[in-house]
Amino acid sequence: MNDSLLLQKTIVDMHVHVAGVGAGGSGCYVAPHMRRNWRYRIYLRAFGVREQDLELHGDALVVQTVSKLIAESRAVKQAVILALDGVVDGSGELDLEQTVTCVPNEFVAGEVARHPNLLFGASVNPYRPDALQRLEKVVADGAVLLKWLPAIQHIDPADRRLVPFYRRLQELGLPLLTHAGHERSFSRAAPHYGDPQRLRLPLSLGVTVIAAHAATTGKSEGEDNMLRLIRMFPDYPKLYADISSLTQANKLFFLTRLLRHNVHDRLIYGTDFPLINTALVSPCYYPFRLSLGEVARIAACSNPWDKDVLLKRALGVPEDVFTRWEDLGLGRSTEEGLCSPGDD
Ligand SMILES: [Zn+2]
Repeated sequence: MNDSLLLQKTIVDMHVHVAGVGAGGSGCYVAPHMRRNWRYRIYLRAFGVREQDLELHGDALVVQTVSKLIAESRAVKQAVILALDGVVDGSGELDLEQTVTCVPNEFVAGEVARHPNLLFGASVNPYRPDALQRLEKVVADGAVLLKWLPAIQHIDPADRRLVPFYRRLQELGLPLLTHAGHERSFSRAAPHYGDPQRLRLPLSLGVTVIAAHAATTGKSEGEDNMLRLIRMFPDYPKLYADISSLTQANKLFFLTRLLRHNVHDRLIYGTDFPLINTALVSPCYYPFRLSLGEVARIAACSNPWDKDVLLKRALGVPEDVFTRWEDLGLGRSTEEGLCSPGDD
């Protein structure tokens, strides 16, 4: 492990979540059952905020906190902040009954514009009647990718009704970052939408697809989801996978297994913040992979992003994975010219 590598500050994290309770007119939403869920408290703590602080200062406080931590990071220079659209019912209306959490595009685009080290990851539910117009709007507002969480947004990536949406995504050159594998972070989920093979439809239409978490965990049709994803790489040159969440306690062996398949030219660095900032992730979970000195050095690192980079490097993630974002243009900016590869 070489700590001096941290000093390069060349990395873009393309998988960072924010959340809010609607404070300050943000439009963010967390369902009442989720606010009573034990995970809610853990997420708030991981964001570094308290509920009363959000009520007082508004949900923008979460974005400010992320920006400050990224600014303090010695390794990561920018982060893509992900919006999250809600569930849409049969008549095309937002269905708050079925929506677990929602982070509006307008909120993320507006807040990200205040912080040069943050980028806009949009989310448009393709079942909205005006989905195509919304897509144009988020691109005009500087979106660098589109994010889906199919299991909780009730989106079937293999639904042929989505073909016009995929065609426009491809024309706009906007990568689709979509959770694959089983989703356990939320209390309501439809896991079968996480089968990576359901991504063949957008891929066959030329869309760049990033399978979040490399399709860990779970099985589809009796086969390990990650293996189902890996089998697809030779067929689809525009298929990528992010390595976010792969150091979590519930996924300890997946990163090693993934790297053994020699697909690192399709892997992209991401963290799934705030989960890297919880007890789910610790170098102490790798007593047979890391020396005691490495564990101590990583554990002593106070910045969650630097700690994540150190841990993933120590576990053998190749250097090119940390700068893969350049191949997809994720660090691009709108007018400000904020970010060209190698900038600080
Ligand atoms: Zn995520």
